[in-house]
Amino acid sequence: MERDTIIQHLGEEKKGPSPVVPPIVQTSLFVYPDLDSFWGTMFDPDSDKERYIYSRVGNPTLDVAAKKIAALEHTESALLFNSGMSAITSAMLSVLSQGGHVVYVDTIYGPSKHFIEEWLPRFGMTSTAVDGRDAEAVIAACRPETQLIYLESPSSIVFRLQDVSAICCFAKEKGIATLLDNSYASPLFQQPAAMGVDFVVHSATKYLAGHSDVVAGVVAGTRARMTKIMEQEGQWLGTLLPPFPAWLLLRGLRTLSIRMKAAQETGNAVCDFLKQRPEVEHVLHVGDSDYDQKELRDRQMSGTSSLLSFRPKVQDFERLKQFVHDLEIFQIGVSWGGFESLALPIPLKPGDEPSDWVIRLYCGLEDPVDLCKSLATSLEKNLR
Ligand SMILES: *Cc1c(COP(=O)(O)O)cnc(C)c1O
Repeated sequence: MERDTIIQHLGEEKKGPSPVVPPIVQTSLFVYPDLDSFWGTMFDPDSDKERYIYSRVGNPTLDVAAKKIAALEHTESALLFNSGMSAITSAMLSVLSQGGHVVYVDTIYGPSKHFIEEWLPRFGMTSTAVDGRDAEAVIAACRPETQLIYLESPSSIVFRLQDVSAICCFAKEKGIATLLDNSYASPLFQQPAAMGVDFVVHSATKYLAGHSDVVAGVVAGTRARMTKIMEQEGQWLGTLLPPFPAWLLLRGLRTLSIRMKAAQETGNAVCDFLKQRPEVEHVLHVGDSDYDQKELRDRQMSGTSSLLSFRPKVQDFERLKQFVHDLEIFQIGVSWGGFESLALPIPLKPGDEPSDWVIRLYCGLEDPVDLCKSLATSLEKNLR
């Protein structure tokens, strides 16, 4: 099946008259007609059937969406979590143990970085941050006790890429697990498992669900790895997604392909507009025709999206603040991937003075003509 057909139909095979939309199986547990079938479900690990017992460890509404995402990511299996962060931390904890070491890219999503730097040491684990643009540096940072290489390509805010195949090739040789946060590209524009990544994670809150009405996460990988997470971290930490948000995610997924197409067009249009502006020093956008990792981008990605940053020549915070306040259409807020455009000033070196500010823009599904007009007006007024 082709991707657009997978999204609409996989996991929804129908027998007889059926609702065209899968139901929300809003239940905490599943009951059985007799003890033999109950025990058979509980204790037959080789059973290929979905084993629904209790919604903390599995529910049919989740499986409809998870099957589609696994197929798009080219992995055997996928699990849905109650946030991107719980997907990320559950996947990490499934391969880490006391004394272990993590190599991670220095520009990953903030909370993931803080989990590695601040939480893991409480349990005897250490880590090394590396410039992910340099595959040799990633490899050189690995030690005999390294258990995980954490990638995010493109990374947050500055949108840097890692050479995923080169890093994974080394990791496989050494028996080191690899994780890649694929939230920016979605499985439509990048399939990390095909490049050797063991754990493909998503904040499904962003492009996958796409409507700013649900917080959710995904981990995709081999069946063995997913079963282990489901039975341990998922089960013990209680991190799986409840049925209703899973249903919202499923509803959002239906339009993923047309939304990503629009994202690519709008992201590139806004980037081209910003590049012409005298107030803009440079634009950080993966889809830029002058993007500095263009060759690597074209090798490992089939598209780019509408999340980008730019560095204004004016670095005075009060003026940057006013620039964001005066923007029309763009609203002030974190997150991204929904229908609505968002803008935020972000310091590249938090804590340092003077800070290096960029404006992060998420371009939503509005008309790019209006987005550019709004940017032009506020640039002229505040950053000239
Ligand atoms: C938002 C985000 C996350 C965290 O996801 P939540 O769903 O908010 O928990 C992880 N990675 C990236 C790149 C993100 O942008």
